[in-house]
Formats: sequence, C-alpha cells, structure tokens
Amino acid sequence: MNVANETPSLPPPDLEALRACFSGRLITDARDLEAFTVDWRRRYVGRTLACAQPDSVDGVAAIVRWCAEHRVAVVPQGGNTGLSGGATPDESGRSIVLSLARLARVRHVDTINNSITVEAGVTLAQVHEAANAANRLFPLSLPSEGTCTIGGNLSTNAGGAAVLRYGNARELCLGLEVVTAGGRVWNGLRGLRKDNTGYDLRDLFIGSEGTLGVITAATLKLYPKPVAQVTAMAAVENPHAALRLLELAQARLGPTLTAFELISNLCIELVQQHFPEHRRPFAGPSPYYVLLETSDSESEAHANAQFEALMEQAIEAGIVLDAVVATSGAQSRALWALRELVSEAQALTGKNIKHDISVPISSIGDFVEQTNAELQRRFPGIRMVVFGHLGDGNLHYNVSPPVDRSGPEHEDEFLAMQPGINRVTHDAVVAFNGSISAEHGLGQLRRDESARYKSDVEMALMRQVKQALDPLGIMNPGKVLPPA
Ligand SMILES: Cc1cc2nc3c(=O)[nH]c(=O)nc-3n(C[C@H](O)[C@H](O)[C@H](O)COP(=O)(O)OP(=O)(O)OC[C@H]3O[C@@H](n4cnc5c(N)ncnc54)[C@H](O)[C@@H]3O)c2cc1C
Repeated sequence: MNVANETPSLPPPDLEALRACFSGRLITDARDLEAFTVDWRRRYVGRTLACAQPDSVDGVAAIVRWCAEHRVAVVPQGGNTGLSGGATPDESGRSIVLSLARLARVRHVDTINNSITVEAGVTLAQVHEAANAANRLFPLSLPSEGTCTIGGNLSTNAGGAAVLRYGNARELCLGLEVVTAGGRVWNGLRGLRKDNTGYDLRDLFIGSEGTLGVITAATLKLYPKPVAQVTAMAAVENPHAALRLLELAQARLGPTLTAFELISNLCIELVQQHFPEHRRPFAGPSPYYVLLETSDSESEAHANAQFEALMEQAIEAGIVLDAVVATSGAQSRALWALRELVSEAQALTGKNIKHDISVPISSIGDFVEQTNAELQRRFPGIRMVVFGHLGDGNLHYNVSPPVDRSGPEHEDEFLAMQPGINRVTHDAVVAFNGSISAEHGLGQLRRDESARYKSDVEMALMRQVKQALDPLGIMNPGKVLPPA
C-alpha cells in the first residue's frame, strides 16, 4: 500500500488533534513552512500539512501513531542539508515534516567505553564540541557540520573527509534508538563493540533515509584525539599517479593517513576565480592535485618529518611533480580551503551536472580516463570538475558546460544534456563495479536511476524489507524505492 496513491479520497485530518498529542511545536503557517519544503540545492519543492517539532521521543512516537491512524506520510528532517531531496515532502500535500531539531540533548559521554550518546537533532559540530570537551575525537567530518544532524548523518550514512581512516557514519555508530513506523520505541542504544544476537536492525535503519523509521538517538564511537594534524599538497600528472602516491603513503604512514583527496586543475581555477585570496601553492598549474592529511600520535615535528620523507621519495620516483607540506595550522586550513570551496565555486559559475560515484579504488584512474574520453566524444567541449575522496574510491565527478556556452542564456541547452551525461557516467560506473551514489543517498534524485541498475533480486529484497517495517507505506514515501 502506498499512502500517496491511497489518500486522495480521505478527508483532511484534524491538525488540532495532532497538536494536542505531543509537546513541542507544530508549524502550520504557509510562510513558516517554506523552509521545510524545499531542499538545500533548491531543486525540489514539496507541500506539507504541517511541520512537527517534538521535544521528546514519546512525542515523536505519538506523532507517528497519529500519522499512521490518519494515513498521513511522515517526512523526517534533520538539518535539511541532504543533496538528494530525501528530506523534502512530495507535492501531494498529505504529509507531515517531522523535524528532529528539538531533540538536541547530549545524553551521555563514556570515556572508558569511548562512546557518546546524543539525540538525533544534535548537529555534527555539537558532537565534535562534546567529544572535544571530553578530550576525545568524533571523526565524522563534513563541510555541512554546523547544520547537519546526527539523525541525518546516520540516515544518509554520510561519508566526508575522514572515511579513509575511520569509516563512514555506519562504522561510527554503536547503537540506535528508533521510533518505528507503527509508533513504537525501539531502544537499541547498546554501545557494544560486539553483539551477535540476530539480525542487525541498527544497520537496516542506517542509510535508509527515513523510509523505515525515525532515528531519535544514537550511541557513537569516540577516539583518542591525535597530538598533531598536518596537511600536505602534491601536484600530479593524472589520477594514476595519485593512486601510486596513495599506495606509497599508506605503506609509509599506515593508519595515520587520515585524508587523501583528489582535485583536478579546473577545480582550483574555479576557486581562484571566485575566491582570489585562495591561490594554489605552486608556481604553475598541474593537471591534478592531491590533498593529504596525517593525524599523528607523537608530535607535529614527527608528522612533518614523515610527510617530508614521503614527498621526497615520491618526487624521486617520478610520482609527484611538486609538493608542499604545511608548517602551521593557518597553512593547513588554507590548503583545505582549496578543496572545500570547490562546490561553492562551481555553483557560482552556473548550472552544473553532478555525480557522486564510487568505484574500487584501484579502478579510479581507468574510470576517469575512459569516461572523460567517452563524454568528450559525445558532448564535445564539456569541462570536467573532478574532485573527491580518492582514498575511498569516491569522486564528485561533475560536469560544467563548454566555455563558449556557459552563460545563463545557454542553461536550458546544457541541462538538456543531463540525461545523456548521467547515462554515460553511470553506465561506466556500473561497468567498473561501482555505485551511482557513494555518500549522498538516493532520496528522490537517484531513486529511479538506482532501480535501473540494481538486480531484480536486490530490488525485491529491498521492497520486502520496506513492507515488513513500514506496512502502511507512511515513512517518507517516494524516496529510495520507486512506487511499486
Ligand atoms: C555544503 C555541503 C557539503 C556536504 N558534504 C558532504 C560530504 O562531504 N559527505 C556527505 O556524505 N554528505 C555531504 N553533504 C550532504 C549532507 O550534509 C549529508 O547528507 C548529511 O548527512 C544530511 O544531514 P541532515 O541532518 O541535514 O539531514 P536531512 O537533509 O535533513 O535529511 C537527509 C535524509 O535523512 C532523513 N532523516 C533525517 N533525519 C532523520 C532521522 N532522525 N530519522 C530518520 N531519517 C532522517 C531525511 O528524511 C532524508 O531522507 C553536504 C551537504 C552540503 C550542503
């Protein structure tokens, strides 16, 4: 059963009854609702009956029970920074946006278990602060950390810049508290490193983008804080050379290597164009750059010496053309800014076509070379804005229009190429045994595209899971799975 298909004949539900069933805030004013019905990239605009902001887990459960009773869809929303339209309601207007913003307490820090238990609406930056106050590290690291929430991070299984060393959100989660689609509370906040007692419900909810239940709290792993973090940048000829550098860096630095990011020259040029105070730290351009970070448990001097030795060896071996090692926190931040400003610089340049892909790490060089060539053959002049988490096999493989057709007057012409460019890219990803959504989830953006590539068996299993956990189909309908 699907709420969206089933509901047109139902009368509008009594929102006063909803307001009375939980403590917190119910927003119904159309103007106030606008912020909750459009996604971060302003690509999707939906409609909703109201936005509910409960301040307790029991409140979340009461709202979900009310929604189940009235066959109203529930669209969980955290910081609304998702990039796949997962937190935006559909256009039916028969949904409640369930904002977790008021579930924002740090419940417990355990420095012996190295864990922290927080409610779903705590922002990622607040988790960092709480961990830091306990002299610990919570390593998940996203540019959106001031706004995105732990509930959203887990529901999208977020990645970011430290996956290479610490894993993505799933690997950082020990336990969950969830309100089920039937409005019951499952307390799975176990904080255990080992627990083999049947099906792993925690892992089902992680990455399910609000389609199976509402995450209300999580127990997360903490780590000792590194003594020093040092950043370096290397200029390389192509992604193949970057992969050779990765192998060498892992051999020399082992687990202290915490980030390994690839940035193509066009990315740096766009950053320099829109943020002229940020310059590449080399005399001339190079086709690609690698940003490396090491987290050392000895000292900054030790980290610097390790990096210097690595770069010397890489230059001697002809892997790296040139390299700089940051000698201060300010220099490290300046190098990171070159990487973190790429998305914003690309957005300021005009419309672009985005992909968030992963392939086995060893295949990245071949993937980029072959797919670039095929795209150029089919769409001459398009410009590749390639950057991302090379150490995880994950690239933001984006496309900008040709220079001579890049003004706003050419936008429609460029966007008409999108289906073709997506198809060439995603076919290549699948041919390399990769994924068409490495860290941003499917939401509504990649839902149908994903179904196109998954096997019948995989789709059938996913539908069975959905049916078992959300038999009324009220949880975030239209996301992840296409309508049956
Ligand atoms: C500038 C910028 C940079 C970014 N960089 C990265 C990056 O490097 N790596 C990366 O992985 N992502 C990145 N993102 C994407 C985004 O920040 C992540 O997907 C983040 O995890 C979303 O968290 P949120 O709280 O904003 O979730 P929302 O956007 O509010 O929701 C995302 C999805 O999760 C569901 N959801 C939210 N909360 C809950 C809950 N409590 N229970 C159940 N379902 C819920 C929603 O229904 C939706 O489907 C970036 C975004 C921006 C704007």
